[in-house]
Amino acid sequence: MNKSFRLLTVSGIDLRLHITFPLILAWAALQFGLMFGTFSGAIFGIVAITLLFVLVTLHELGHSYAALAFGVPVKQIILTPIGGVAQLMRMPEKPAQELIIAIAGPTVNIIIAILMAALAMGFGVDILTLLGGFFELSGTTFMTLFSYIFVSNIFLAIFNLLPAFPMDGGRILRALLAMRMDYARATSIAAGIGRVLAVGLGIYGLLNGNFFLIMIAIFIFSAATQEARSTRVRHHMQGYTVQQAFTTSAYRLEASFSLQQAANMMTYSGQRDFAVVSEEQLVGFLPHATLREALRTHPAHTSVSTLMLRDVHPVTPSTDIYTVQQRLLSEEMNALPVTTGNGQFLGLITQQHIADLYRLVQTKPSIIPGPQSL
Ligand code: ZN
Repeated sequence: MNKSFRLLTVSGIDLRLHITFPLILAWAALQFGLMFGTFSGAIFGIVAITLLFVLVTLHELGHSYAALAFGVPVKQIILTPIGGVAQLMRMPEKPAQELIIAIAGPTVNIIIAILMAALAMGFGVDILTLLGGFFELSGTTFMTLFSYIFVSNIFLAIFNLLPAFPMDGGRILRALLAMRMDYARATSIAAGIGRVLAVGLGIYGLLNGNFFLIMIAIFIFSAATQEARSTRVRHHMQGYTVQQAFTTSAYRLEASFSLQQAANMMTYSGQRDFAVVSEEQLVGFLPHATLREALRTHPAHTSVSTLMLRDVHPVTPSTDIYTVQQRLLSEEMNALPVTTGNGQFLGLITQQHIADLYRLVQTKPSIIPGPQSL
């Protein structure tokens, strides 16, 4: 989170640049500067890549608006040197919704391509000249820039439609399959196709000595594996709730406690994350990272109430486990407080609890009260 900074906010969605983003601009300046052999070549490179990332952003906004239309909140859009990601707070329930959200991104690029082609033709430039400009890159003219953006935009659409995770094509494929079979099976087939594609791409890269393709192949392969795993977890965890995994014997902090008292409690309990409770009501949360950071930056007598996070939403015993796991991941937390519906503190649920439950469900499901008994 802190490895990126906010550029602007569109419809409530933060558009953030990863701190490594300037690297791609430096690379573009160098690459195009050397290619054209001029300083204006370097400027051309920076402008071209910046416009390319405007296209990437519009693509991600396409996904985002489709998600919002289905009531799926969008956390943020992050631009990194290798592309953009729109982070959704959760996945839509229905395959048809996932299909539309996945298609929305490349659709934006296709619409832009059509508009650009129409504009060029309006000025009497035919498509072949437009395409040719990209491959010749004959000078730092407006026409070359226009061609470069036109063709890059088409590449962007095609690359994203490759049927492999994490590309949109992988999600489109999974959604189409999931309309005919269960979600876990659809994911495993889509992930399998993605892996085959990645291996093919990797071999092609090896034979041609293309390091960049090999990197992409490894990336696609691991994303496919990751997607398959997370869907498997979701499948196995179906029906299990916080009730079956959380601890009611968590140590808690009072809002009046000092940082020193919190540190002492951490040391003797071995617990890392603490709920802050006042008269049995949850009033805040002090995750391990926040506590450690505070120990470094604040005096020991600082009150816990000034350090605790107030915007960590608790879960209830009936929240399903998969939802909790997704929240832990997206909020980069290790634990979440568990309360009753009216905020009375009950305990904590941690990543460890979920991992333990998952292992138990896989090895000896009979010893935990199953989803059916609830
Ligand atoms: Zn996309």
